[in-house]
Amino acid sequence: SIYERIDAVEDKVEAFVTITKEQAYAKAKEIDEKFARGEKLHPLAGIPIAIKDNICTKDVLTTCSSKMLYNFVPPYDATVMQKLNDCGAILVGKTNMDEFAMGSSTETSYFKKTKNPRGLDRVPGGSSGGSAAAVAAGEAPISLGSDTGGSIRQPASFCGVVGLKPTYGAVSRYGLVAFASSLDQIGPFGRTVEDVAMLFSAICGRDPMDATSSKHEHEDVMAALNGDVKGLRIGIPAEYFGDGIDAEVKESVMAAVKKLEEQGAIVKEISLPSTKYALPAYYIIASAEASSNLARFDGVKYGYRAKEFTDLTDMYERTRSEGFGEEVKRRIMLGTFVLSSGYYDAYYNRAKLLQRQIADEFAKGFEECDIMITPTSPSTAFKFGANSSDPVKMYAADICTINVNIAGLPGISVPCGVGADGMPIGMQMIGPKFSEATLLRTAANYE
Ligand code: GLN
Repeated sequence: SIYERIDAVEDKVEAFVTITKEQAYAKAKEIDEKFARGEKLHPLAGIPIAIKDNICTKDVLTTCSSKMLYNFVPPYDATVMQKLNDCGAILVGKTNMDEFAMGSSTETSYFKKTKNPRGLDRVPGGSSGGSAAAVAAGEAPISLGSDTGGSIRQPASFCGVVGLKPTYGAVSRYGLVAFASSLDQIGPFGRTVEDVAMLFSAICGRDPMDATSSKHEHEDVMAALNGDVKGLRIGIPAEYFGDGIDAEVKESVMAAVKKLEEQGAIVKEISLPSTKYALPAYYIIASAEASSNLARFDGVKYGYRAKEFTDLTDMYERTRSEGFGEEVKRRIMLGTFVLSSGYYDAYYNRAKLLQRQIADEFAKGFEECDIMITPTSPSTAFKFGANSSDPVKMYAADICTINVNIAGLPGISVPCGVGADGMPIGMQMIGPKFSEATLLRTAANYE
């Protein structure tokens, strides 16, 4: 079983916070019996899957890699988990992540540092580093992550796997522990585009439990994989190929674009001048929402509670100062600041205006092209500690991915080369809302 592989490599990779071997064997037995009875099974039946530890799993620890939730066992399944259970997929374990999904390297986890299976001295990316590493290391053929500002696409790029961030609203967020609710989306990782398409089609769709989930009728993405790219218009936004992006990354992405052009795609340069505003807008909006979403962790209902305290207020204070890590506290303070009266207009409102501007610019861009291609990350996977002492440097590494969340668009990262250090390079394809089928088809043609 997959656990032979997990037992063999998990010591080195450390992709998991929790391993659910017993439950997995019980579930596998159930599927076997169904199969023996000749019942019709879903293609995902019996397939092992790893799930990011901010997605609620009934009776299985869901920690968000935080001390704050070190003992939290949800009494219910997230909608995505429910859907996968119904398909017969088998949960193998919960994957490590940056605490509450805040980070780009999985180094802010309270529990452990996940290594990049392609180079153990490198970070796997983040925040869904465990989910990307598990797939890259063969510890699970597919996995789920969440992406608020790049947390699926960037680790997919760093680990050399495929990762899809769906259109905002395409996948239910019910049971996903909220970081920035207006940007968060759950999405799949896989070794191939086909695996990612299969997993996406299993989890997408309207959910009455999530009012922001969309009624959109999704195209059959599996059928779409058979199409070609003749006449597909690919836009290359100049702003994503400027200073700050490593030369080898640009070259590798442009070589991939060339390959698509040879298959009949039409390539043109376009411009998205507001790209430069995306970083400040993102870190203001995401932190503002986080400061509100994380207010619920107060030691009262669940999770960690300080051992010693004098009164209720003291209990809150000690619980939150002991339970949250440094990065989470930084975001809560930043978010509280930009929302405070007197600063609200100067920061939060301006960030929301920039968000509108960025989204409008993308919409205009898509009048000229069907998809856009950019690097997923400015560099290959960096070494442990390289950015962790300098938050602004770490934030800057998100420059290629956050715009997509700000505009609510779908994006996919596909491996497209290897850097001088032997680490994978990823290219990002971005499409208009609900263009997952086009993105997957293009990615499949490149692959
Ligand atoms: N790296 C970004 C951040 O730290 C994105 C994280 C994410 O997508 N969850 O906020």
